Amino acid sequence: MSEAEDRIGELRELLRKHAHAYYVLDQPSIPDAEYDMLYRQLEELEAAHPDLVVPDSPTQRVGAPPASLFGSVRHRAAMFSLDNAESPDDLDAWAEKVERSLGRPPGGFVCELKIDGAAVSLTYENGVLVRAATRGDGSIGEDITANVRTIKSVPLRTIKPAPDVMEIRGELYMPVSEFERLNEEQAAAGDQVYINPRNMAAGSVRQKDPAVTASRNLAIWTYQIGFQEGGPTFATHWESVEYLRDLGFPYNPESERVPDLDEVKEFVAAAEKTRHGEGGHDYQTDGVVIKVDSLAEQDELGYTARAPRWAIAFKFPPEERTTKLLDILINVGRTGNVTPFAKLDPVFVGGANVGMATLHNEKELQRKDIRIGDTVIVRRAGDVIPEVVGPVLSERTGKPRVWRMPATCPFCGHPIVTPEGEARAKCTGGFICPSRLREWLFYFASRGGMDIEGLGYKTVDLLLQEGLINDAADIYSLTADDLLGRERWGEISTNKLIAAIEASKDRPVPRLLTALGINLVGPTVSNTLVREFRSIDRLASADTAEIEAINGIGAEIARSVSEWFSDETNAALIDRLRTAGLRFEEPEPDGESDLLAGITLVITGTLEGFSREEAKAAAEAAGAKVTNSVSKNTSALVAGANAGTKLTKAESLGVPVVDEATFVRLLEEGPDVL
Ligand code: NAD
Repeated sequence: MSEAEDRIGELRELLRKHAHAYYVLDQPSIPDAEYDMLYRQLEELEAAHPDLVVPDSPTQRVGAPPASLFGSVRHRAAMFSLDNAESPDDLDAWAEKVERSLGRPPGGFVCELKIDGAAVSLTYENGVLVRAATRGDGSIGEDITANVRTIKSVPLRTIKPAPDVMEIRGELYMPVSEFERLNEEQAAAGDQVYINPRNMAAGSVRQKDPAVTASRNLAIWTYQIGFQEGGPTFATHWESVEYLRDLGFPYNPESERVPDLDEVKEFVAAAEKTRHGEGGHDYQTDGVVIKVDSLAEQDELGYTARAPRWAIAFKFPPEERTTKLLDILINVGRTGNVTPFAKLDPVFVGGANVGMATLHNEKELQRKDIRIGDTVIVRRAGDVIPEVVGPVLSERTGKPRVWRMPATCPFCGHPIVTPEGEARAKCTGGFICPSRLREWLFYFASRGGMDIEGLGYKTVDLLLQEGLINDAADIYSLTADDLLGRERWGEISTNKLIAAIEASKDRPVPRLLTALGINLVGPTVSNTLVREFRSIDRLASADTAEIEAINGIGAEIARSVSEWFSDETNAALIDRLRTAGLRFEEPEPDGESDLLAGITLVITGTLEGFSREEAKAAAEAAGAKVTNSVSKNTSALVAGANAGTKLTKAESLGVPVVDEATFVRLLEEGPDVL
């Protein structure tokens, strides 16, 4: 046997094993990007050795044979996979191939978000849902009708008369908010935790008990008519999905019909920017599906053994990779919380080189059974802190070391304790702990706090090392002479920092309160407290009951605030900040403010720190007009969690969408933040 033949056999076996874990068990054993890498290797080897291609190679078939848990269903028309593009060059190559086959450029394309869920086929007879099936191996899927009937966005009957028979194709998905909620519940009950929303969606429709599926709030986007008899004929894909919409099927409104490849690329670039729901959608996308729009052209192009030639999936860059976990270290944060993190053999993932990743807490580490020396899956999604998803158990060799939380803090030597009922360990060294002090000072000066430009980690470290500051109040005694002449500190940078420190003295009181870093007191809580007390001193002398009486402030927050202010060291810090001239009083609003005069807002979704009425009242008190529906005259849409159609409308009209934190800043600072 040749070397290539050996490797081909090895790759096929590996891919089959991983495909079974992924499609049948809903428990992937490696990250998708690595599966795709092995898959590409096999494709390349097979292209170089066409004589070695066999019909049951993973490159020649769709998915994996279904498990026998459910009855089987033969699809009337085969369900396909999609070929992948990973770069604009891949898209060019695909478009060239299409053009070559047709002998002309195609008449246009449809771009659809690639929803990361599970493919489903829905059969309707005279408009009534009679069967739902998984994709399976493309020809035969599993009968999941009873489970799919429980999904609210799947129409049980069409809202208009429909063809005699139709097979509709769509993607069942798990809203990201549901994924997070359910995984927390599963973990608390000691049940299986899913790696991503896709696997959870696939696992949820393959439950023996439909009541379990029903409890999971899945949703669907349909995207194609796979087969039909007795219905209208269409010239384009776009017409066919408009028809689907008319019949009452959800078709993703972000889809677009575009004339050429340049606009396809624009759509792809925009979709990548909002892949984590930045546009406000509550589902995960892993790419964009591009389809030739004309159905006659689709027919001309046809299919390979596993995918249409008239469509391609542009995959966003991978966000998960495997690497070696070299060590587990801890960090003490600004509130004293001790967080273990992984030191990794650096790996390029999600667009950055990652050498460290958070492990959250000791319990989480034990639950995932992560050990030092393991090969682990690392995830980095957008700007989110990289995390270790879990170990690759099949690659565990030798005796990887189990990690335990140290008894004392390696930075200050004080005991580390885990308070009863809490998952997080704490360092008991207070601000004597240099790690905690450094994190707090950085937070104090950061954009969410006093916003002192130029006071990042590097400068904080320098000031601490040189003994120039020991707490936040010391920042305000710094002089140009303290810095001038040190490495990187010339006249310009020194004067800039001193001016930034001076400017920060006049930050609104809620900023100062946030910067103090009191446990549980972020920007929203700070605003609520200052709206009520109007001054740091009045808040400091309030008792727990008074604080708790405020709408939006719970017992735990109230306790945290009064404990913080009754601590002697904190009281001394407050005195020194007052002496330094920081703003401690917020003027009473003189009836109506005109800060937001001329601004029209619409508020939607659930906000954390305000009820809808409170948010409206706060906006109106600042001079804004609040209306109920989004139009082109709306200045901004304030969108909380689970925002719905107003969000889609705002996006389509190009109305700015702001989150709660920005809304709070808007109330404080006025329209410039928009
Ligand atoms: P795919 O997910 O790359 O693309 C095909 C699927 O996209 C369709 O079946 C459909 O379900 C879905 N889709 C979403 N939106 C769509 C739209 N608007 N129009 C058409 N289809 C749409 O292909 P696949 O064959 O399902 O799976 C291959 C992928 O699965 C690979 O990317 C691979 O990374 C992953 N995989 C991973 C492992 C693993 O071990 N981690 C194993 C097997 C497969």
